[in-house]
Amino acid sequence: MDKNFVFMFDQPEKGSKELLGGKGANLAEMTRIGLPVPYGFTITTAACNSYYDTGQVIPPEAELQVLKALKLLEEKTGKKLGDAADPLLVSVRSGAVHSMPGMMDTVLNLGLNDESVQGMAELTNNPRFAYDSYRRFIQMFSDVVLHVDNFHFERQLEELREEKGYDSDTEITAEEWQQVIGNFKDIVKKHAKRSFPEDPKDQLFLTINAVFDSWNNQRAVLYRRLHQIPGHLGTAVNIQSMVFGNMGNDSGTGVAFTRNPSTGESKLYGEYLMNAQGEDVVAGIRTPQPIASLQKEMPTVHQQLIDTCQLLENHYKDMQDIEFTVERGNLFILQTRTGKRTAQAAIKIAVELVKEEIIDKQEAVLRVDPDQLNQLLHHRIDPDHKRTPLTSGLPASPGAATGQVIFDADEAEELAKNGKRVILVRPETTPDDIHGIVASQATVTSRGGMTSHAAVVARGMGKACICGCESLKIHLNSKQFSVEDVVIKQGDTITIDGSTGEIFLGEIPMIEPQLSDEFQLLLRWADEQTKMGVRANADNPQDAAKALEFGAGGIGLCRTEHMFMDAGRIPLVQDMILSETNQERNHALDKLLPMQQQDFEEIFKTMQGYPITVRLLDPPLHEFLPDKEDLLVDVTKLQITDPSSKELNEKQELLRKVRLLEESNPMLGHRGCRLGMIHPEIYEMQAKAIFHAISAVNKKGIQVNSEIMIPLVSHVNELKNMRQLVVNIGEQIKEETEEDYNYLIGTMIETPRAALTADRIAQEADFFSFGTNDLTQTTFGFSRDDAEGKFLQHYVENEVLPSNPFVSLDQDGVGKLVENGVKMGRATKPALKTGICGEHGGEKKSIQFCFDLGMDYVSCSPFRVPTARLAAAQATIRSKQKEQVLQYN
Ligand code: ADP
Ligand code: MG
Ligand code: MG
Repeated sequence: MDKNFVFMFDQPEKGSKELLGGKGANLAEMTRIGLPVPYGFTITTAACNSYYDTGQVIPPEAELQVLKALKLLEEKTGKKLGDAADPLLVSVRSGAVHSMPGMMDTVLNLGLNDESVQGMAELTNNPRFAYDSYRRFIQMFSDVVLHVDNFHFERQLEELREEKGYDSDTEITAEEWQQVIGNFKDIVKKHAKRSFPEDPKDQLFLTINAVFDSWNNQRAVLYRRLHQIPGHLGTAVNIQSMVFGNMGNDSGTGVAFTRNPSTGESKLYGEYLMNAQGEDVVAGIRTPQPIASLQKEMPTVHQQLIDTCQLLENHYKDMQDIEFTVERGNLFILQTRTGKRTAQAAIKIAVELVKEEIIDKQEAVLRVDPDQLNQLLHHRIDPDHKRTPLTSGLPASPGAATGQVIFDADEAEELAKNGKRVILVRPETTPDDIHGIVASQATVTSRGGMTSHAAVVARGMGKACICGCESLKIHLNSKQFSVEDVVIKQGDTITIDGSTGEIFLGEIPMIEPQLSDEFQLLLRWADEQTKMGVRANADNPQDAAKALEFGAGGIGLCRTEHMFMDAGRIPLVQDMILSETNQERNHALDKLLPMQQQDFEEIFKTMQGYPITVRLLDPPLHEFLPDKEDLLVDVTKLQITDPSSKELNEKQELLRKVRLLEESNPMLGHRGCRLGMIHPEIYEMQAKAIFHAISAVNKKGIQVNSEIMIPLVSHVNELKNMRQLVVNIGEQIKEETEEDYNYLIGTMIETPRAALTADRIAQEADFFSFGTNDLTQTTFGFSRDDAEGKFLQHYVENEVLPSNPFVSLDQDGVGKLVENGVKMGRATKPALKTGICGEHGGEKKSIQFCFDLGMDYVSCSPFRVPTARLAAAQATIRSKQKEQVLQYN
């Protein structure tokens, strides 16, 4: 049997979403449940893939099936494509499995030519409408299929408007449109080097090819990379009979969301334009009307729309983004999809759908993308700051941002590469500006509504955005904008608040984010499901408090070197490093000890008995000394200006020591437990500080659940030595302070050798914490700073690596070592506690991986704790769901 490349919207056998694409599958589904969807058919993604496999030709059997489907469509509508008297017109619409709004191409009004346009003019008794539709078709077709720059057509229109003094295209008459059409055809001849095709079947197949081609256009490829959508999926093509929102003032077109996509508020939300065709709303050319005013203009249609939206939301059990068109008072639905939303809206909608008993708590937890939560953990403008906005527009995507004004996407990208914070300001954005939106802190447009391109894209990325700020007069040529008599030039700093739509001059103080009640509730539901702990990395009491506030179940990594870095202590640390004799060194350490003890006491008190993993000193000692280059400059200067000074002497001594400690490869040098091995007195001081702090806090009646961690072990003997050192001190201080306490001693697994000999290492360890940052460096043989600075981006862009292994754990390589480490460690000690610390602990795919290995916890920075809690819950729910499926089979 031939492969089925074409499905009618009402075909009884259901095509999968993978085959029909999201748009096609939902058009079929809506047809099936009886909604007013213009009839049509879908050409599958499989046809697209064959098209590419065979060197960009449509497979012949697909072509035959399209012709057959077209016949059925003609029968159903009673019209014929290209008919001189009553032509069938269709749209040819792209639609992939994952929605990629505006990234691929669509052509409307296909089937018009010099002949059929006359038939349509007579039949509708509305020549103006017929010729307007025809010129739109020529314009879109030439852009999408013949690659004639739309600019040429727009310039024609601009000239006409100017000549006649028209403000809006609705003033253009039928005769003038006919003229425009003639000119448009000349433009096609000149720039496409061919005449505009009059045969509707040619038009159709050329467009199908072009839509397949648009799967691989530059912006679609970039969008897929940003959203990690694989390139092999292909797009489907939907052929659908046209309905017309541009037939007059009883017609229109719009977009509706069943709930507010920015705030999540449960209220129909959207925009429409009277007497307009599909693209006009999203293109941001005219600023549309809010849906509510449709109630006055067309109450019946408004009610029908509300009912349909409700029905669609109940059917799909999620917020829907719906395209509709009204043709002479009749409502048609052209698309529905799960609506993109901000993190704030995602949470609110998930929580409210549970309260409305449409979904259960588990489903609600799965509904919110953990990565998206970062948006909520963004800064806001300090509420105590007196707000004096320069102007305001539509609050299209929440969050506050400060940056330099820039008017061009390429320049924005360039500046951002050089570490500048920029805000992209444009009359409107098109899909070609997407790299500029990515690079900017925020986007501002002077035209377009809440559903315009800039708004949709920014919300998807969680970036702040203001649209339709019409008081902004943008002068692209002179690179400035003005608001009344205030002029802002390129490079000037502004601050925007995407939650209110306000724009401010200069930089404005911001505050740290807090968790809303709904957010907390969702996280509580998440915690109810989770079978894995989430801890935070925190080095001081403030971070520890933040970690608890965000719901961490402990500290997975407390780095003690930051305690050394404190400005007041650095001289003491330097004394310790520079001391020539043991006596001198012990003297310096004695001074540091009470300070470290104080730090630990405060953190232990803050943690109130929650577990806390304290890592002994890790970085190489030269990190605590001044920079060599700086010292050299100082010494050279002093040699000239003050050659006999004491200062010169000291600096020279310092320089000598710096040179002594200099390493050709510090990442692999004298650091981690290797410091403790050579300078045991340093680790002894730290151990003393910890145990004294424990007994002091215990005496106040507060429990301490401490885990002491030895870094960068590669051989079990290192751990054996350091463990003995810590235990000796621990027991000694128990006696001294007459206080009894428990503590664990464990190690980081962050070298391949440690992972490979985890069974031996586990004999000396009470716990393992996988330091996946160093483990990634040592497994790849990459030094992170060099890799990220020099070649990693190239690797990712050219798909040498699927993603940056420092961001998402490399499961095939580094992950194998982690897996081996967990398994071998547990073979020695079945109850061995295992966890992961470092950035990977806050990344959803890595969290899933840790869950699958049966780790006890993940640990990440305090601000990522909510993300990790949600991801850990999702991992648990998914594994439960998998188990259930296995049980039933
Ligand atoms: P996109 O994926 O970029 O949204 P669409 O295929 O949805 O592209 O179409 C672009 C615009 O044209 C939308 O506003 C849509 O509603 C409108 N449109 C598409 N097909 C038809 C049709 N058959 N009749 C009227 N309007 C249509
Ligand atoms: Mg659409
Ligand atoms: Mg490390």
